[in-house]
Amino acid sequence: DPRLEAISAAIRVVPDFPKKGIMFQDITTLLLDHKAFKHTIDIFVDRYRDMQISVVAGVEARGFLLGPSIALAIGAKFIPLRKPGKLPGKVISESYELEYGHDRLEMHVGTVEPRDRVIIIDDLVATGGTLSAAISLMESQGAEVVECACVIGLPEVKGQHKLKGKPLYVLVEPS
Ligand code: 5GP
Repeated sequence: DPRLEAISAAIRVVPDFPKKGIMFQDITTLLLDHKAFKHTIDIFVDRYRDMQISVVAGVEARGFLLGPSIALAIGAKFIPLRKPGKLPGKVISESYELEYGHDRLEMHVGTVEPRDRVIIIDDLVATGGTLSAAISLMESQGAEVVECACVIGLPEVKGQHKLKGKPLYVLVEPS
């Protein structure tokens, strides 16, 4: 798919951010490139429009930049999965491992129903820890996670193995 090259080219790599040794994949430059950004949304929409997806769940913060456009186009609701303490209503919470320490994702209870079919979206998957926490949140509420979707997949870390057997769909690997 020639669109993937345009998407790859629009992602900026920033060395040593947020700390030395990290090659940060920056999708803000993808958002500046109308064609490449549209290709990104179009590919996800084409994939999910006929899969009876009723919920797009986006992971804070960069999943919020992608998820709502996809949700609107496929006729699904959008649910934000947020860092601790941000959501005002009653939440459920799931912690996950980071390289150093751990973090948590939260979602509002009552936002999904057992018959909901969910895709979870984020900009990038590395270890898969974040997406695993997102899957656990959804499953704890009885929803079915159909797939996880990311723009970028780091190849050196085997995120798939952490995703509780759920399929992972990624568009590009870092160039
Ligand atoms: P994981 O939990 O799979 O190890 O890490 C994925 C999470 O870290 C995602 O929420 C993603 O936004 C963030 N992340 C880690 N490294 C990068 C990076 O190089 N670029 C961007 N944009 N996000 C990253």
